[in-house]
Amino acid sequence: MSEIQNCVIIGSGPAGYTAAIYAARAGMNPLLFTGKEPGGQLMITTDVENYPGYPDGIMGPQMMEDFKKQAVRFGTEVRMEFIEKVDFSGEIKKVWTESDEEIQAHSVIISTGASAKWLGLESEQQFMNKGVSACAVCDGFFFRNQEVAIVGAGDTAAEEATYLSKLCSTVHMLVRRDEMRASKIMQERVKNTENIKIYWNTETDEILGDENGVTGCRVKNRVTGEKSEIPVTGFFVAIGHKPNTDIFKDSLDMDDHGYLITKPDSSKTNIEGVFASGDAQDNVYRQAVTAAGTGCMAALDAERYLSSKGII
Ligand code: NDP
Repeated sequence: MSEIQNCVIIGSGPAGYTAAIYAARAGMNPLLFTGKEPGGQLMITTDVENYPGYPDGIMGPQMMEDFKKQAVRFGTEVRMEFIEKVDFSGEIKKVWTESDEEIQAHSVIISTGASAKWLGLESEQQFMNKGVSACAVCDGFFFRNQEVAIVGAGDTAAEEATYLSKLCSTVHMLVRRDEMRASKIMQERVKNTENIKIYWNTETDEILGDENGVTGCRVKNRVTGEKSEIPVTGFFVAIGHKPNTDIFKDSLDMDDHGYLITKPDSSKTNIEGVFASGDAQDNVYRQAVTAAGTGCMAALDAERYLSSKGII
């Protein structure tokens, strides 16, 4: 059995890397597991224009690379592995990697973030990666000069529709209500983009395709009940996210949607020595900057915990 780690950080978005920067600078020698989506959701974002310190904006993946470099510079060990099981029942916390290696730690910071939600249609699964995608930035390139559809009406959908409009000939935006949830500035951007066509009160009935992939989608107007087909080769889903907290459901308190519950004004969970940060515990703000803020809180809370136990 290897040594007991001071602090294991699970997740590598803004929360995880910020926790790592603070923990490393506090001499905690953190060990960070990146998880299945290294860099988290910012890896599937284009320009980040609202993170302070970047007056001209920055690309999400570049920002995460910078976060990682900063964490490593102060001594964080980064492992590109996924934690698939935990046991928080004892004073020493245990986590297991996907290759079944057991890691022991005095403290654990959870920054596992959230993942894209899907519509739940069978055709969505059938055409996954054959035209169906939840990441415009990753896959938009494949649909240059083609017609695509995007479902959703939040900031993600608005941002991705705008991104796709620069690559694709027409973006058909399917909005299930008669208004959008996205911030006003993002809505205006979408509405003022000539090649984005908005379909109000519209839900997806089926994604259509053949052996080569997506060929269209059948949509239904929720007011009139009328169905119609839109010929598209790409179908993007941008309807929100689910917190990546399934492995904690037997040990940590969470709300009905799976977001981890922390004690007020802290990152403390119901288990001493286990701290939560970022989108895995924040259902309200869900911003890179707030995730980074709660990552910082988690590292400070972990440091205080370890010093109260005389471990550091
Ligand atoms: P949201 O939860 O904000 O929005 C989800 C959207 O998808 C809603 O419009 C919702 O419709 C729609 N939707 C949900 N389920 C379905 C379904 N089954 N069929 C059709 N439509 C559906 O998620 P986002 O990912 O957009 O944003 C999450 C958070 O991240 C927000 O706080 C957002 O502000 C933030 N964000 C900020 C960005 C920025 O500042 N640059 C960029 C991206 C995200 P309805 O409205 O009817 O519920």
